[in-house]
Formats: sequence, C-alpha cells, structure tokens
Amino acid sequence: MDTLDTDYLVIGAGAVGLAFADTLAHESTAQILVVDRRGTPGGHWNDAYGFVTLHQPSAFYGVASLPLGGGRIDRVGLNAGFHELASGAEVSGYFDRVVRQSLLPTGRVSWRPMCEVREVDGEPRLVSLLTGQETRVRVRRRVVDATYYGTTIPATHTPGFAVAEGARRVPPNALPGLWQARQADSPLPSHFVVLGAGKTAMDTVLWLLQSGLPPERITWVMPRDSWLLNRRVTQPGLDFFADSFGSQAAQMEALARSQTVDEVFERLEAEQVMLRIDPSRRPTMFHYATVAEAEVAELRRVTQVLRLGRVQRVEPGALVFDTERVPVPEDSLFIDCTASAVERRPSVPLFQPGRLVLQMVRIPQPAFSAALVAHLEARALASGDAGTPESDAACNALCAPVPLPDTLDGYPRATMVNMANQMQWGRDRELRTWIRQCRLDGFGQLVEQVAPDDEARQAVLARLGTAARQMPFAAARWMAP
Ligand SMILES: Cc1cc2nc3c(=O)[nH]c(=O)nc-3n(C[C@H](O)[C@H](O)[C@H](O)COP(=O)(O)OP(=O)(O)OC[C@H]3O[C@@H](n4cnc5c(N)ncnc54)[C@H](O)[C@@H]3O)c2cc1C
Repeated sequence: MDTLDTDYLVIGAGAVGLAFADTLAHESTAQILVVDRRGTPGGHWNDAYGFVTLHQPSAFYGVASLPLGGGRIDRVGLNAGFHELASGAEVSGYFDRVVRQSLLPTGRVSWRPMCEVREVDGEPRLVSLLTGQETRVRVRRRVVDATYYGTTIPATHTPGFAVAEGARRVPPNALPGLWQARQADSPLPSHFVVLGAGKTAMDTVLWLLQSGLPPERITWVMPRDSWLLNRRVTQPGLDFFADSFGSQAAQMEALARSQTVDEVFERLEAEQVMLRIDPSRRPTMFHYATVAEAEVAELRRVTQVLRLGRVQRVEPGALVFDTERVPVPEDSLFIDCTASAVERRPSVPLFQPGRLVLQMVRIPQPAFSAALVAHLEARALASGDAGTPESDAACNALCAPVPLPDTLDGYPRATMVNMANQMQWGRDRELRTWIRQCRLDGFGQLVEQVAPDDEARQAVLARLGTAARQMPFAAARWMAP
C-alpha cells in the first residue's frame, strides 16, 4: 500500500477546511494535504440550488488570502443598499480559484478530490472513490476534522417524510429547470408547496415570487416560526457603523435587561436587530438565518401558511400531518426545503492530541473561525510548542466552541460564549492585531477609523462599552446550568 507523509491532513474542502488550510499555508511552512470525497472544492456549495446566495456580505466570507466579490453595494433587488452577496456559482468558482491560485502555488499544499478518509486501526487512510485504492497517511502533526458540522442540503439529504407514488417531490435545485417542463410528459404544476421554515424555504418562496408566480399559488408548510437576523446589522464599513456596532450593544443590553428569552428577542426586534415574518406569531427557532427587511415584506405576501407541525407524507392532492390531512391541488409540486443545513452536535475541545476538530469560535462565522484557529496553530508552530499539552490548553482557552442554537434558549449561551471568546482575543495583543487585519473579520479595523470628533460613532462605542460592563451580571443569569 502506498504511503503519504504530511504535517496536516485536512478532511473536507468546504469553506471551513479551505479557510483553515489557507491561513496555515500562508503563515507557516507546514505541508498540508486537503482531501474531499467530492470532485471539486467548495463542499456543499457544489450541490446548492441555482438561485442560492450567501446570507452575509461576500466581503468577509471565504478564505483570508483571497477577496470574494468586488466590495460593491447592490443597487437593485431585495438586497438593494447592502453589500453584495455572492451567488452559489460565484462561491463555487471562488473556492476553485482558492485551490488553484492560493493554495497549490505555495508548493506545500496538496489536493486530493474524490477520496474519502477512513480510520483503520486508528490511522487515517485515503480511499479513492473512483478506484477503491487505499493509501496510508502518516500525519506528523494533526488530522484536521473540517466535517464536524456535517452540512446537509436538500439536494443530498434523505427527507424525513414519505412520498406517495405519483407525488412530485423535488429539491429547490429543480426549479430553474422548470422551463423545460413544457413537454406533455412533465407539465408545469399549477401549485407549489414549499416544505420547511428555514433560509432555503425562504429563498425558494422569494424565487417563486420574483419569477412572477402569484402568491396564491404557493402553500408554505412552516413547522416553526423563526427569528431572523436583520441583514442591515451584518454590513461592514463605516456607513453601517451605527447598525453593526449598535446591534452588538443592543444584544448585550437585551441580555442584561431581560428576564426571559422571549423578552430578549422582543427587545432586539424593537431595535430592528431581529425580524420575524408574522408579527402575530411567537417564533421558537433561531438559526442565524439572515434576511433583508425587503425580503420579509415580500415573504409576507404568501398567506397560505400551514402551521401544523412537520409533514409526515405527501400525496398527489394532499399533505398529511400528524393529526390532519390538508388537500392541495392534485398536480402540486412539493419542494423539499427540510434539510437541516448544519447538524447540531455536542461541542468538543478544538485542540486535541494529534487532532483538531474545527468548530465555530465566533458565530455565525465558520470561515473566520477556521482561519483564527489556523493562526493559533501557526503561532504555536513558530514558537516551537505546537501540539504540547500546555500549548493546546492555552489555545483551547482562547477557543471555546460556540454551541449552535436551534431553539431560542440556545441563543443567550451562544452569544455569551461568543463574547467571552472575543474578550479573550482582545487581551491577546498579537491575536488582536491579527484579527484587525484579517479580511474575514470585517469589523475590527473599523473602530480605529472612527475619528475622535465623530460624535455619533463615538456615542455608539460608548454605548458598547457600557453594555459590555453589564455582561458579567448577564452571564450569571444565562450561563447558569
Ligand atoms: C444555503 C446556505 C447558505 C449559507 N450561507 C452562509 C453565509 O452567508 N455565511 C456563512 O458564514 N455561512 C453560510 N452558510 C453556512 C455554511 O454551512 C458554511 O458557510 C460553510 O459553507 C460550511 O462549510 P463546511 O466546510 O463546514 O461544510 P461543507 O461545505 O459540507 O464541507 C465539508 C466537506 O467535507 C467532505 N467530507 C465529509 N466527510 C468526509 C470524509 N470522511 N472524507 C472526505 N471528505 C469528507 C464533504 O464532501 C464536504 O465537501 C450557508 C449554508 C447554506 C446551506
């Protein structure tokens, strides 16, 4: 059996694996082997629906060494006034460029597509999906697990509901191809049923409406209502300073002043940090789905919304729930947007002997998190103590994994861990400087750009400082076991 030697074996060439490999490759002399079972880099973006975009500005997504997008402000469409959002095709093309233009030219990064990593007797093996050939990998430093979140998307997941014969269930990927449905054997549906309440379902409803479908031809199955992050507060740049930094202060204030988690979200809604589609409903879910107010206004045009829990079965002409059966037009197209996107697994220490398990250390920024972890590893390599128990303990102290919320209850804890990490980073001078110059951070360098006589922005910073001082009290309430 062939054997490969490497310093780092990165499993997964999605955003997380590539952001890690990129920073480590550019900040150290380590040899890195990146492996993915997919044939092209970019992870789940390879299988995304044609009308997908980032939720967040392109300006701070991707890897540290290569900009994504041109820093433009959208002038038209539902994102008008905000920083551009890369489309799925752009993201996939970008990750391809990352490998070809940024990683491989270092001469120290190798890329193995179409290979699965399996552990045999505690040792990693590459298994070629094309030939079945196995290659032993001798890893001198660490195996880097960039698959921990197990991202699932509609095109590749197994739905959790039954599909009766004759019912047309498709992932959203099928929609742009409907122009071909003029042939008699596959006629266009008269009605569209969108299954799911997350960002994919929202994107799908928006695409249908933007394509000219009247809202009365859509039924939306929404098992849970969700709080949504207002995209306004995620905008980089001084023009949005009051929104972005103001929202940080608003989050801390809400946590410090609220007695219940519903109150936290209602305060944040009053501050226009959080949005909801139906103001008469109390959302129970929060996944950091990020939308513009214009998108929410558009989504409200759909009034046939079924809140009957999860669908159990789709049939030609009916949706079957636990306790109810709801008729829909016989030829309805059922669009499956029920994939969970990110699997919620228990947090584990990132730095482990011989291993790194990449998780978010700033939520909701997986790429920034991976780059920051790579920087800490490169820093430890430079000082000669990478991988020692002391060094790993110090790195773990800087990198508490932020637990991903699902219900509202998870939000205060996630925010607290986020802030605690941020405070630790602020005390580490070298790391603070690194964060400020990292393009994936998006916000750190702004503070320095605020002029002393800029009263409005200085007032935002003062509000932030006051709110931060209340955090220890808030932590006592929300972090209690
Ligand atoms: C529609 C959508 C929009 C999003 N928008 C944003 C956004 O705007 N901003 C943001 O920060 N996040 C966004 N996200 C979150 C998104 O999940 C992350 O940004 C990121 O793309 C996840 O990357 P990943 O590397 O963790 O996972 P993946 O993209 O799933 O990559 C993991 C890779 O590991 C490979 N793999 C797994 N196991 C093995 C194995 N044993 N051997 C070999 N290879 C293996 C898989 O094939 C896969 O390619 C979005 C998610 C979705 C679904």
